[in-house]
Amino acid sequence: MSTNVSLFERAQRVIPGGVNSPVRAFRAVGGTPRFIARAAGAYMWDAEGSRYIDYIGSWGPMILGHGHPEVLEAVQKAALDGFSFGAPTEREIELAEEILKLAPSAEQVRLVSSGTEAGMSAIRLARGYTGRSKLIKFEGCYHGHADALLVKAGSGLATFGHPTSAGVPPEVVQHTLVLEYNNIAQIEEAFATQGDEIACVMIEPIAGNMNFVRASVPFMKRIRELCNQHGALLVFDEVMSGFRVALGSAQSIYAREIPGFQPDMSVFGKVIGGGMPLAAFASSREIMSKLAPLGPVYQAGTLSGNPVATACGLTTLKLIQREGFFEALSARTRSLMDGMAQAAAQAGIPLVTDCQGGMFGFFFAEALPQNYQQVMAKGSERFNRFYHLMLDRGVYFAPAMYEAGFVSAAHTEQDIADTVAAAAEAFRQL
Ligand SMILES: *Cc1c(COP(=O)(O)O)cnc(C)c1O
Repeated sequence: MSTNVSLFERAQRVIPGGVNSPVRAFRAVGGTPRFIARAAGAYMWDAEGSRYIDYIGSWGPMILGHGHPEVLEAVQKAALDGFSFGAPTEREIELAEEILKLAPSAEQVRLVSSGTEAGMSAIRLARGYTGRSKLIKFEGCYHGHADALLVKAGSGLATFGHPTSAGVPPEVVQHTLVLEYNNIAQIEEAFATQGDEIACVMIEPIAGNMNFVRASVPFMKRIRELCNQHGALLVFDEVMSGFRVALGSAQSIYAREIPGFQPDMSVFGKVIGGGMPLAAFASSREIMSKLAPLGPVYQAGTLSGNPVATACGLTTLKLIQREGFFEALSARTRSLMDGMAQAAAQAGIPLVTDCQGGMFGFFFAEALPQNYQQVMAKGSERFNRFYHLMLDRGVYFAPAMYEAGFVSAAHTEQDIADTVAAAAEAFRQL
């Protein structure tokens, strides 16, 4: 029988690091990645037949759990009609209509195949529309691996960043300004000094790539004001938070707090593909009409709007609109976080948690972090030990403390109770 260890050895001979996306390699937590053989509902089974309660959900897409029967049926039916045509289909219109219905900040949407592609295209469009080059991003936010976005903060405030990857020439990131998340003074200064050169501010409104950190309402309100004053576009990267933290995505949460609030552009992925390669960027008709074939900003894709992927995404988006879906998902996620916090307190372990909809984060710290530095400052050794204690007990969390977690509609109260019981044991052993 193949074991995780034997598969990992074999994989490393033919695939760099044995994985097709780095975080899967368990580098942060150590040990051997589990090679997954199959999944159903809230569970995954590895090559050795061990079962795990899955809190990664393919890093977000599997909001209905694995292999939802109605999604499966739609995918099978679509596959029988053909995998890809390189020509428009009615289902692309249906998916676009569905996305726009749930994201009223936008009037048009273009479908692509990955979040990286969507984010990269959104920036090109923001630059093409404004005629400006510079962009602001925040440390700890991930927007895919496009060259201009693989950048960390420069040495001083308002200096441009350094590449975080070899192979990215410094000139490529010279237009990217990296600021601290939730720091109002910094973004005010950036706009004061170079506001008329900034094409867009890109942000994960609820950041899921530095565990789980919310942009504060005053911070978001100020960003919106600054963008308005200086003619920059506010781009919400909702690849993770979209249709995951609420049916109206994170933007609906800020719209409740800030009168009239909406982003100028939104980037979606993960949930809108339901586990298939599909992502999108969306904006007003005026901005989107700058895209080819109507306008001068080029963007294209052989597999964009793929008929099997759109069947999967469309069915997923329809199912999450059922009465009470998000209420139930939120309650389940909340009970997981509350249960873990209580178990940690009983064991005398400092743990703080946060969650929204079906997305959560927990930190071995006294207070919720507000930015990347604070996320990374504390608890990594404890997290890594906790991670393996949970994995040994059949609970599959993200293998790095800077990743958010996900609950699906397939997780039962029993799954949550079993997870909390496992966590209570793990906390006692820490
Ligand atoms: C996952 C993610 C991306 C990248 O999406 P891919 O499909 O992996 O390219 C971009 N932005 C955010 C916020 C993400 O979570």
